[in-house]
Formats: sequence, C-alpha cells, structure tokens
Amino acid sequence: MDEQSASTVYGNVGEFVENYLSFVYARQVKDRSDTVWCTEWWRHPEAVIRLEALWRAWEYFRNVGLVGMSAWFLDHADAHMRRLFDPRGPFRYCSAQGGHRTFLAPLPMESPELPAANSSGLAHSAQVDPLHCVYADAGQFVENYLSLLYQRQVSDPNDAAWCPQWWRHAEAVVRLDAVWRAWEHLRQDSMPGMSRWFLDHADPQMKRLFDHRGPFKYCGVRNGHRDALEPLPVMSPPDAMFDKPAAEGLAASSTHFESLVQFVEDYVSPVYRRQVVDSNDTVWCPEWWMHTEAVVRLDTLWRAWEILGRDGATGMSVWLLDHADPHMNELFDQRGPFGSCSARNGHRDSIPPLPLRTTNLFASPESPDQAPR
Ligand SMILES: [Zn+2]
Ligand SMILES: [Zn+2]
Repeated sequence: MDEQSASTVYGNVGEFVENYLSFVYARQVKDRSDTVWCTEWWRHPEAVIRLEALWRAWEYFRNVGLVGMSAWFLDHADAHMRRLFDPRGPFRYCSAQGGHRTFLAPLPMESPELPAANSSGLAHSAQVDPLHCVYADAGQFVENYLSLLYQRQVSDPNDAAWCPQWWRHAEAVVRLDAVWRAWEHLRQDSMPGMSRWFLDHADPQMKRLFDHRGPFKYCGVRNGHRDALEPLPVMSPPDAMFDKPAAEGLAASSTHFESLVQFVEDYVSPVYRRQVVDSNDTVWCPEWWMHTEAVVRLDTLWRAWEILGRDGATGMSVWLLDHADPHMNELFDQRGPFGSCSARNGHRDSIPPLPLRTTNLFASPESPDQAPR
C-alpha cells in the first residue's frame, strides 16, 4: 500500500480523524447514555484498526464514480462509527469529559495444549498459503490479534459472554478459524478489504460468540470453562432412508462427509450445541430426518459446506453467516418445524403440510393466455 500513499489526501489515519472524521461525525458525546467517544481514541487498538480501515476505504471510494462516497458512508463509515459510539463498545469507560480510562483489557485466554485449529478436528482443512499468512493458525491469531482488538467488559455475561478456553468449544473454533482465514485473505485485498473484514466477518461472528445465549452461555471469565452444552442429540435414521451415498451434483469421492446423516451427526451436532432441554430456549428434534423441512435445509447446508469450505479465504465465514446461522435459526425456532418435538420427549407427529383448497388456476401453465391477469 506504500506506493498508493503518494496519492492519498491524508498522510495517515490520525490526520484523517482530526481533519475530516471529527467534523463529519460531530455528535452529542457529553451524555454517555447516548453516544460515547474517547478523546484519546488512538489508545484503543479497535479504534485504531477500524478508523485506519475507514480511512483507507475513504481514499478508495472518493475515486469511485458518483456513488462512491455514498457507499463509503452507508456501507462503511456509519457501521464502524456506530460500533465505536456504542456505550458497550471499546469506549465503554471513556468519555469526552473524563478522557481515556484503561479499564478494558484484552480478552482473557488460556493457551490450548494443541494448536487451536486442530484441537477439535472440526475446523475446515482447506489450505491456506503459509507464505502469505501472518499467523500460523487460528490460535495464534486469536491470542495475538483478535483478543486485543475486541476488548469488552466480559466479567458480566449480560454484557458480553466469553470463555478463556474458547478452543474447547467446537463452534468457537470453527467461527474463529473462519475469521482468521478471512483476515489473512482480505488484508491483502484492495483498500476496503479490512473494512469489509470487520463488518462482514469479524463483527457478526464475534456478536454470536459474545451472545449470552451462544456457545459461552455457561462459561465465564470468573469461573472459567464449563462443559455444560452437549452436542445436539441425534438418532440415526433407518438405513433405507438415506441410501444415496452422496448429494446429487457432488461426486462422492470429492466430498468430506460421506452422507447428509454423517454431516449432521459429526459436524452440525457438535458445532451447534444449544441448550435444547428447555424448549423455551431452543427446540430440536433428535429424529430431524422425520421432518421434510429439516432434511431439505440441512441437505442444502451440507452442499454449501462442501463447496464453500474449499475456498480457504472467506468461504467458511460466509457459510456460517449467510447459510448455517439462518437455516439453524429457523430449525431452532419454537414456531418452526420442530415446534411439537423436543430433545427430552423426542419426535412427535410432524406438523401436516399447509392446508390447501384445490384450484384450477394453474391447471395449464403452458398456455399463457389463460394465466390470471
Ligand atoms: Zn467454555
Ligand atoms: Zn420431530
């Protein structure tokens, strides 16, 4: 990026914040309940890296046609500034009047005995080019980069939940491995790469991990790791039900999992651990294969996993955020297909198909002149 610095308007992120951003984002920052700001923003690694990404995105978008600046505002600046202004964000204890406070520390962390990416065997094995990687694996990335970046108040889990032994949680390993891969890829990207990494990958993944109903639900910084969440219970379907060895369109020899059942039992179940005993939280049916909707959704998830997982860059993060999370949330929903089943009592008769009265409206789709107007 050095060769580009000759053509930038501002010499560095400091000049950009001082001479541009502080004027553009003038806000009421005296009342902390509204918007927080730290006059020494440069003491916060998260603010430095976000604002640097924002500056680089600005230098890029100001040259992108008529709508470039609007895209910069709406897709980058507003999102980053909202996170910095958030009273629960990095400036939680700072204020415009009281100045900087150093109450937030890097996320506490105990080092795993094994490299984190391998400790559960679930992180995707897609190759990353070691020559172009800054960090050797997800464990080093989390310990030396991410934990400094996302400094949060984690002693009260209502604020942000965190487990110092995050690497004991399959879901955390899979998500953070995906965040690391996306980072190694996007940091080499053209100017808005780092901003996109933050907004499209790191922020949504961290939001799911920090969620007090997420994988760290029973862990805490004070009491440490607790092995309280079991894999989703699954019963094996009758043999004849899924005798097709591989999904259509995927060559059996090239897929990581041999079948949909294996994918659900060996991957989805350990990764998406939820508190499913109390169905007020999350519902799940151990006989998921009795539900057409679950079979179709999980089958599409498996196919997407086999394809996106081979993309060693942002593929796994995209799979988690754009595919797995939305599908799993539909399945986990009390009003979803498992509404009358439970992990405790097992499968109940599936909900019947949507009731329909027959109609001849679509009787002859070949003749368009009969179509309704
Ligand atoms: Zn834990
Ligand atoms: Zn069921």
